[in-house]
Amino acid sequence: MEFSLTDLSNPTKENGEERVNVLILGSGPAGLSAALYAARADLNPVVLTGMELGGQVSLTYTVENYPGFPEGVGGSEMVELFQKQAERFGARVEFDTATEVDLSQRPFRIQTYNTIYLADTLIITTGATPRHLNVPGEKELTGRGVSYCATCDGWFFKDKELIVVGGGDSALEEGIFLTRYANSVTIVHRRDELRAGPVLEKQARENPKVKFIWNSVVDEILGKEAVEAVRLKNVLDGSEREYPIDGVFIFIGHIPNTQLFEGQLEMDPMGYIQTDKWMRTNVPGVFAAGEAADSRFRQVITSAGMGAAAAIQANHFLSEFESELEAAGEIDS
Ligand SMILES: Cc1cc2nc3c(=O)[nH]c(=O)nc-3n(C[C@H](O)[C@H](O)[C@H](O)COP(=O)(O)OP(=O)(O)OC[C@H]3O[C@@H](n4cnc5c(N)ncnc54)[C@H](O)[C@@H]3O)c2cc1C
Repeated sequence: MEFSLTDLSNPTKENGEERVNVLILGSGPAGLSAALYAARADLNPVVLTGMELGGQVSLTYTVENYPGFPEGVGGSEMVELFQKQAERFGARVEFDTATEVDLSQRPFRIQTYNTIYLADTLIITTGATPRHLNVPGEKELTGRGVSYCATCDGWFFKDKELIVVGGGDSALEEGIFLTRYANSVTIVHRRDELRAGPVLEKQARENPKVKFIWNSVVDEILGKEAVEAVRLKNVLDGSEREYPIDGVFIFIGHIPNTQLFEGQLEMDPMGYIQTDKWMRTNVPGVFAAGEAADSRFRQVITSAGMGAAAAIQANHFLSEFESELEAAGEIDS
């Protein structure tokens, strides 16, 4: 691997290529927290927003589990505040998306729609996307009764009737969790047997609040201001019926947004980037944080924490590298 050093205080732009100390891919909680920490370390980080400015949380109506907001905070308002805080210290946010990366040598080469970045360190916070049902009403009612996160939204459904879509481990785990709040949780599954492990299945079947509707799919989610019902279709005979409900939790998997790095970074079998506890990937100088590297916690606070940690590590990496060059007499101390 070839190394060279950027003047840390003065990123440069030449021939359509821009040299930066820290490039952050993603503008969700992980990316903007990384930006805040990198900016406060005087690294002039550049954040590429991708197609979803603010990330997943910007889709949600209210966030009630992030400390510091006793009355809750709107999802998009929250990430706007994250962005302002990072910009106050010198982070630059660009409405652009990485389309190609070359991590084989430093500076890393990142092609976007608008430019080419040469980055001394790269922080990947491209998140993950919950799989959607792609049925009418789903998008419109997300945050208004449609949810992909029991930890985030369960509390809003005290004494309500819910359905959970899915038949795997996470559907059952999250469904059982939701019984803490809801009157009933009905698992809607397209087959007549579950994919979840036997222990979880036993727990679900023994829970008096859990019911099952088999061989069925949700064809439409109905409601004006909030979810009122779903249209269920029986996959065996094609019959349809309207099923009144207060909320729909969809747990049919997540897709990490990491395809761009395939073959260059180590990933687990599901495509999550593997890091050590310091957010380092297998390529020195490349860090990953938030849901792109985390299939377990999937929260704003955990993603933000990982983003901050990645930026602290990127700063250490650059300082160590600079000291090595100084010791080798390649730059003036
Ligand atoms: C509807 C909903 C409600 C939620 N509610 C809560 C809640 O109440 N509390 C809570 O703690 N958590 C909640 N979550 C979960 C929370 O939003 C996520 O855990 C968090 O957003 C993950 O942050 P992240 O920065 O890792 O990734 P994301 O938020 O997924 O952000 C990924 C970012 O990467 C960008 N990106 C992707 N590809 C590229 C590319 N090639 N180049 C540049 N950028 C790219 C995207 O545009 C986006 O900006 C909710 C999630 C959803 C979907």
